[in-house]
Amino acid sequence: MTRVPDLEGIVSHGLCTGCGLCASLVGEDRLGMAVTSYGQMRPQRKQALDAATLDRIRAVCPGIRVRGPDLEQVGAGGVFHPVWGPVRSIQRGFAADASVRFRAAAGGALTALGVFLLESGAVDAVLHVRASESAPLLSDAQVSTSAAQVKSGAQSRYGPAAPLLPVHRLLDAGQRFAVIGKPCDVAAIRNLARIDPRVEAQIPYCLTIFCGGVPTWHTARKIAAHHGVEESEIAVFRWRGHGWPGPTHIETRDGRSYDLSYEQVWFAPGSAWHYDIQFRCKICPDAIGELGDVTCPDGWILQDGRPIHEEAPGVNLLIGRTERGERLIAQAAAAGAIVLQPCALAELDAMHADHLPRKLSHPARVAGLRSLGEPAPRFQNFRRWRMLWRAGLSRSLRAFAGTRRRVRAGAHREPLR
Ligand SMILES: Cc1cc2nc3c(=O)[nH]c(=O)nc-3n(C[C@H](O)[C@H](O)[C@H](O)COP(=O)(O)OP(=O)(O)OC[C@H]3O[C@@H](n4cnc5c(N)ncnc54)[C@H](O)[C@@H]3O)c2cc1C
Ligand code: SF4
Ligand code: SF4
Repeated sequence: MTRVPDLEGIVSHGLCTGCGLCASLVGEDRLGMAVTSYGQMRPQRKQALDAATLDRIRAVCPGIRVRGPDLEQVGAGGVFHPVWGPVRSIQRGFAADASVRFRAAAGGALTALGVFLLESGAVDAVLHVRASESAPLLSDAQVSTSAAQVKSGAQSRYGPAAPLLPVHRLLDAGQRFAVIGKPCDVAAIRNLARIDPRVEAQIPYCLTIFCGGVPTWHTARKIAAHHGVEESEIAVFRWRGHGWPGPTHIETRDGRSYDLSYEQVWFAPGSAWHYDIQFRCKICPDAIGELGDVTCPDGWILQDGRPIHEEAPGVNLLIGRTERGERLIAQAAAAGAIVLQPCALAELDAMHADHLPRKLSHPARVAGLRSLGEPAPRFQNFRRWRMLWRAGLSRSLRAFAGTRRRVRAGAHREPLR
């Protein structure tokens, strides 16, 4: 990697994912997290950081370093799929609790697993996010120690959050906790485990999603503006859930409410907003949660080989990626916390085809960055040559050239504030 000079370099070159682990590591008195004018959560230095601290940040930062899963973790009965990564088990499923299934983003599997881990005593707490009470377009990190708290975080937050801010506070307090987050949040925990031996014992489970990328805060503001609603008027901003996928729902403090369907929000032509994801998401090697113990994407219904987003009772896929994750799914099902149904690995190809272009193109995009002498992240163990081979020469060249164009135009750069 062309060395990224410092924390500000990570942000300004568009490599930060906004996880918050650097602020957790350094302490919020020295390094905070705030939403910048770009519309994402980014670290804000309050004091100078010495070279050793910067080295520790570089070691854990998932923006610049991600190491993929090891072949051995699938065991004798699993499959290491060239695209979908380690799969020890794959099933459809949903939360047995009908109210969780209804309120959650998809089938509520993540919430149900979080509640199960707490109630079975496997962990003391679950670290995840929930809608901010003071600024409902944003999301706050949440340390849940009760089932009700875990359930309050059910739904997808398509916008800035810094889920890992409380990690060191919990480690220092000797807490044993599970993390529910995006694949890059889990990558950050896996990086931390390499420099902090407490992680192995105290963070026994990482649960994650498939991730299309995080849009900026401006997307939510534009959706509100479409309804004529100012940010200061908003009491509730729910991206999805309360159905599957459920409406994007806004409630104002004076009792008005507005809904747009999933199709209207993300697929209607001519809307004033778009899925304006950060640059780091465009070169992501792992938006499919290869590093989680359990990964729970939507279990979309297919029609003519393509996913449809018509309202239905929510369904996830539950992918057991590690031995621990596979065991957790089986234990939660045996305890009646989740309901499982069969699913074939081959179904992923049609159900989540939207993930193929990014997955296959990420090595060419990173090469495009490098070719211009830009700081580029170090992605290891993500089957680079197999991706290039599967992508084919023409797709890879297009991805390479597209990234160079974007970088030359400065489209990957971000302001620091
Ligand atoms: C930015 C984003 C992009 C996504 N893209 C895809 C995609 O491409 N394909 C796909 O199948 N699914 C995608 N999802 C995931 C999907 O929306 C569901 O969240 C997932 O299937 C889990 O469903 P569930 O019902 O089990 O989750 P729930 O039971 O509702 O639980 C969701 C959990 O995720 C946590 N969470 C929500 N948002 C965030 C966030 N921004 N950062 C960290 N943690 C969070 C919550 O705190 C909660 O604990 C995306 C979600 C997000 C937030
Ligand atoms: S990706 Fe996470 S650790 Fe890296 S700079 Fe951004 S907030 Fe900090
Ligand atoms: S696409 Fe990758 S980098 Fe972007 S939020 Fe998702 S997991 Fe993180």
